[in-house]
Amino acid sequence: MTIADNINQVQETIQAACARVGRDPAQVTLVAVSKTHPPAAVLQAAELGVQHFGENRVEESEVKIPAVGAETPLPLVWHMIGHIQSRKAKFVPSLFQVVHSVDSLRLATRLSQLMVERKEILDVLVELNVSGEGSKSGLSASGGATDKAILEQLQLEIGQISALPGLNLRGLMTMAPIVEDPELARPVFADLAKLRTALMETLSIPLPDLSMGMTDDYPVAIEEGATIVRIGRAIFGEREK
Ligand SMILES: *Cc1c(COP(=O)(O)O)cnc(C)c1O
Repeated sequence: MTIADNINQVQETIQAACARVGRDPAQVTLVAVSKTHPPAAVLQAAELGVQHFGENRVEESEVKIPAVGAETPLPLVWHMIGHIQSRKAKFVPSLFQVVHSVDSLRLATRLSQLMVERKEILDVLVELNVSGEGSKSGLSASGGATDKAILEQLQLEIGQISALPGLNLRGLMTMAPIVEDPELARPVFADLAKLRTALMETLSIPLPDLSMGMTDDYPVAIEEGATIVRIGRAIFGEREK
């Protein structure tokens, strides 16, 4: 399978998932996760029409994103999807147009300061830890779709993030647990969708985006309302360790 075959396959799978639940595939943005893969792989996907790319490490991005930019005039959109260490935050605004991994008020405040200095706006999503796994980043949201105290804490923090200057809060992101059967990830996606609805109502803010779904579970995520899917292996193949 070539990258072209893989992209076609993923696009067909996105269309089929949308068809099952009566959604328009134009409402689902494909972010090709190019972490660990060289600039040449990004350029190949870009030439095939992929516009959005995801990376999870600032160090890798500092080399890769300028290298790709030097080789193509295509207007690519770079999405930061991994945890950002405080000392790396200052490199994010010049590299990325969207950050999915805002996992604390502290990081949001830092990014806000940087964007105000630049006199620019950064699109951000707040990462929620819906599954409750200790290994995952994000504001704790496990049980938040039903537990009032957890929802109130999220309202407080996300309300503060949404008020920060220089940031455009677009929505929520989560990572589902790694499971054999993607059906087991469905409740996590459904909970993120419920939390989005609850937060939009109580905070009276738009949260248009739900970033959820990866190679093993994106059809299920789309059925539950994903507007952004982050797909690595199904496009670029297995990553080397
Ligand atoms: C690596 C990664 C992905 C893509 O994972 P695949 O299983 O390769 O599709 C998506 N989201 C995040 C946050 C990641 O780190």
